Amino acid sequence: TTKQLIMSEKLAAIGEITAGVAHEINNPIAVIQGNLEVVRNIVGDKAEAARTEFRLIDEQVHRISQIVTKLLQFAKPEEYAGYVERHAPATVISDCLPLVQHLLAKANIAVVRDDAATRLVLMNRTELQQVIVNLVVNAIHAMPDGGKLTIRSFDQDFDRRAGLTIEVADTGVGMSPELVQKVFDPFFTTKRQQGTGLGLPISQTLVTRQGGKISVVSTSGKGTTFSIWLPQAE
Ligand code: ADP
Repeated sequence: TTKQLIMSEKLAAIGEITAGVAHEINNPIAVIQGNLEVVRNIVGDKAEAARTEFRLIDEQVHRISQIVTKLLQFAKPEEYAGYVERHAPATVISDCLPLVQHLLAKANIAVVRDDAATRLVLMNRTELQQVIVNLVVNAIHAMPDGGKLTIRSFDQDFDRRAGLTIEVADTGVGMSPELVQKVFDPFFTTKRQQGTGLGLPISQTLVTRQGGKISVVSTSGKGTTFSIWLPQAE
């Protein structure tokens, strides 16, 4: 429809502007990061007295650069399309878990796995990892007082296409139906300073680009299950 066309044109325009701005921000950040180290060396012993301040600047500059990277990835996903390979989901999931091990332990979260999938998926490994890690980190955030994280993979057909599903389920805070409606909206976050609201929209872009889909089922106060469906690699 005309409305959808206008919407997609608007989104494309926003993407162009965002990518431009993100590129512009990248250069000054690199200069700040480089010079911060130089200043620290010049100040020498006195740097110790300003340790907290240096660390704060470091952290915040790092945060800006991460947001910019995410913005670019969101606005220009095609520039980030990497090399695509066939993967067993269980292997990729296994590679993700060490990255979040400290968070899982700190939050007292038990991990349950069920790797039943026999099919392979065609995807860039880093991207698939990024999607899974993103879902797992969100699940951890949803369980501040501990809980159970269940990661399953199983063969499943969708729209008469052969494929497989990777499921990330938590026993966390869950979401109201209104919230569920918004989770894939760019910049939607309930995490204030800590969130960017780009994790899920980026995940969605990466998954749909491979011909897959990502969906969510959630119950307020009970928990949330995110499902990634991907077509089977030929
Ligand atoms: P961010 O994590 O930076 O906020 P996301 O796009 O990854 O960005 O998530 C958007 C929002 O969706 C989160 O702020 C949170 O409100 C909600 N959300 C995502 N995953 C979960 C989950 N497992 N349980 C409850 N809420 C979630």
